Amino acid sequence: TEKLSKGKSDVILDTFREDELGDLSRSIQKLSNDLKRLKKERSEFLSSISHELRTPLTYIKGYADVLKRPSLALKEKEDYISIIQEETENVTNLVNDLFDLAKMDRNEFLIKKEVVECCEYFQEIITIFKPAYEEKNVMLNFSCVPKIFVNIDRTRFGQVVHNFLDNALKYSPSNSNVQLKVQMENQQVRIRISDEGEGIPKTDLPRIWDRLYRVDKSRSRTTGGSGLGLTIAKEIIERHGGSVHVESTISKCTIFSIYIPLERL
Ligand code: ADP
Repeated sequence: TEKLSKGKSDVILDTFREDELGDLSRSIQKLSNDLKRLKKERSEFLSSISHELRTPLTYIKGYADVLKRPSLALKEKEDYISIIQEETENVTNLVNDLFDLAKMDRNEFLIKKEVVECCEYFQEIITIFKPAYEEKNVMLNFSCVPKIFVNIDRTRFGQVVHNFLDNALKYSPSNSNVQLKVQMENQQVRIRISDEGEGIPKTDLPRIWDRLYRVDKSRSRTTGGSGLGLTIAKEIIERHGGSVHVESTISKCTIFSIYIPLERL
């Protein structure tokens, strides 16, 4: 009779114990906080992306306008066209990275694995990088324990190694050394990329994997990076069942270590 005189919601509430209601209200509060945080992150990400796109586009428009001047010398024309080409490449890279991230978020980023022998695989990538390293006079050393096999997506994993070697070169001074070392450690394959460059401050280390995070925002124009490279690299490594770690000493060195499972034949 008591239940009959109550409304439907009171009956439902009666079926919960007080501590269960407390748990429920805490879960709802947490969900609401998570939603607020996600909204804020999305809005920050969109405004950073807009900024990243607007800056090169401003350069492109500006130099294209200057190119119209009839008085321009040939040398100046060539310089301005180079700048336009570089900035266009920056925008293209950024858009490609954004596409990759979007595919990852929707779980449409496919990994097609095959078994490869490490020395042969990494040597191929090293060969591609040699000219860029030589141009800056940075020595690229490579060492690899032979006959180690891994099960990887050649293209996607190549993108990862490419990003680390590209950064190592970008953040290194001339006449320094970069090393790529492939070895076994605790039953896993360790790919170690070390450089003698500017290093990363301790406080920035945990954030370098975040979307669009850069240690030195002002230098991004000269180095040309999108700040998405490491985010994508970490995700690809994890999709290979691996992990990645970084250690760094300011003005001395940075060491990235990628660990991936060994493929036993
Ligand atoms: P970017 O495209 O800007 O290089 P990444 O995601 O690849 O973006 O790297 C994020 C940031 O981490 C870089 O902007 C740079 O500040 C820092 N970083 C990455 N690799 C190195 C390195 N080898 N030496 C010093 N700083 C680095």
